[in-house]
Order: sequence, then structure tokens, then C-alpha cells
Amino acid sequence: MNEQTLHLQYGINLHADHIYDAYEPIKVTSAYPDPEASALRQALARYTNATPDMVICGNGSDELLDIFVRMHALVDKEQVLVIAPPTFYEYPKYANRVGAKLIELSPDRSLIAPGNLEEQGATPEHTIVLIDSPSNPAGDITSREQVIDLLNGGYTVIADEAYYEFYGQSVIDLLSTYPKQLAISRTFSKFCAMSGSRLGYMVASPHIITRMNKLKPMFNVGSDTQARALFALEHMAEFTQVLSGIKKVHHSTRAAIEALHAYQLFSSLELYVIFKHPTIPSPELQNKLREDFFIETYLFDNFKGHSVIRATCGKEADMRRLTDALAQIA
Ligand code: PMP
Repeated sequence: MNEQTLHLQYGINLHADHIYDAYEPIKVTSAYPDPEASALRQALARYTNATPDMVICGNGSDELLDIFVRMHALVDKEQVLVIAPPTFYEYPKYANRVGAKLIELSPDRSLIAPGNLEEQGATPEHTIVLIDSPSNPAGDITSREQVIDLLNGGYTVIADEAYYEFYGQSVIDLLSTYPKQLAISRTFSKFCAMSGSRLGYMVASPHIITRMNKLKPMFNVGSDTQARALFALEHMAEFTQVLSGIKKVHHSTRAAIEALHAYQLFSSLELYVIFKHPTIPSPELQNKLREDFFIETYLFDNFKGHSVIRATCGKEADMRRLTDALAQIA
């Protein structure tokens, strides 16, 4: 791999590392971490307007999503998990690992509704609906009304708000009305650029959190991760500033690609640009970017029926390098 390689293949925040320059990592790590992440849960409770007994921290939200589905499947042999691809590629594993039935809905998120779920064979008392909104990578929104309809229909819902800060709207306030059915999942991987440190959290009723804690590995979140996340929570204003930079790069990159009149662009989360060429197959386009321009991108081979390239929005100069390459290839 050339050392000039530009890495745009990962779904991460490439703009915020500098915020941690002021963070001092823990020097002594011989002691085990606080298994309850008490200080962090308190801070998260303040951030989410919940109470600490409604918060659980995980080794990424991936771990907590897995625990949530497992917790249900352990007591329900007919457990079903409903997802709506394209979405986070780990989702199917939560069902597969525990032998739960997986139902994959069509990519049209407006069709997420109790009637459609029942047509697909889901019964509310056995079904968890796991929905990321905004979705990764398309940025599609599942409306608050849709979530309420599912809850009123008796479904258990995990609202995966991994990209909450990109969007600013949440259904977390519905927890008080639907404490037995709803859980909110969030992560520090994206907005807070902590993918490598691994910190996710879930907010749900104290009853659900107590049950999840029984399945959680004791020391699942390292001391340094807990401390770093506390630091991040004290610097939210800086991450918000960075976010507006990401959005700017997203829109300027889209405009630059559009101006080439050679690619089809797809709407997406502002963390990415997603595109394809009308005649060069996407695997070939990805190879050209890699071999000729040392740019790594992610090949999404079924994005709403299309094979597309997803590039993460890096710094402005990096995105110019991408659009220059696309201009030469076109
Ligand atoms: N949910 C969604 C929608 C995601 O895109 C991701 C990461 N790509 C996750 C959950 C998991 O994030 P993490 O485990 O890093 O917290």
C-alpha cells in the first residue's frame, strides 16, 4: 500500500481527531475499569435527559444491539428481528447468532408500518424492529409517527440513533410512554470520532437496562474509553462545529461530482458521498481509484438495487483529490 493512500473507505469522522489533542490518556492501566461506568453514565444521563439507571455503556453500540436481541431470543424461541437494508452490515448477525428469524424489509422506509410487517410474517409480541434513522449509509429517515405506529401496534423497537447528532431529532422522549417496548441506541463512533476507542450506549427503562446488565461482560468498556468519552461530552460544542465542516465538504463534493456530468449521485448521510458511473462497473471504478490514484473507497454492491461507490467525506483537499481522480476517469 502506497503511503500516499487516501483512506475514504471507512464510515468514520475524519475531521475531529484534533479535539482530543487536549485529552490526556490514563497513564496507569493496571486496574480494571469501573464495570458500571458510573461517572460516564451520569454524564450521559445529563446529556440525554434520562437517569443513570436508564443508561448502559457498551464496547461500541454493536455490543449492546447484540445483547438486546440475545436477551429477547433467550426467552422467546420464536423471536424475530426486522431490519430494513441497506443498513449497518452487522444487523443480520444479531439474529443469526441466536437463531432468531430475520425479516429484511424493502429499502423504501416509508413502508415500515405494522400492516407491512404482519404481511411479512411478523407478530408484534415476538418481534424486535431495529431501525437506524438516519440510516447508514442512505441517510433515510423513519418518521416519529412510524415509530409510534409500531409501538402502538405492540412491536418492540430499537431506535438506532447512531447518527442522531447529524440530524438533531430523536424519539428518546417516547421512552416514558412506551417503557416496555422502546430502546434508544447511540454511539460515540461517529459524531465524537471515537470508532477506535469503542463506546456506545443504550437508553431504556431501568427494567430493560437491569436485564441487559445481566448479559453484559463485566469489564466491557475500558478505563481509557470511559475517560475519553467524558472528555468528549465536555467538548460537544467543538464536535458540533466540526459537523458543520463535514456537511460543507459533503455538499461541495457532491457539487463538484455533479459538475462533471459523468456520474450518478445518490442521496446519503452527509458523512459520505455515494455515486456510480453509468458505464464503468463500480468494482472497476473502485479498482481504478485504488490502482491509479491510491484512493480507497467502499464498494456497496446492493445499495437500493445499485452497485455503488461510497466515499467518506474527508478534508477538503482530500475530496478535491477524489474529484480530480473522478474527472480523469470520466
Ligand atoms: N448503528 C449504525 C447505524 C452504524 O452505522 C454503526 C457503525 N457503522 C453502528 C450502529 C455501530 O457503531 P459502534 O459499534 O461503532 O458504536
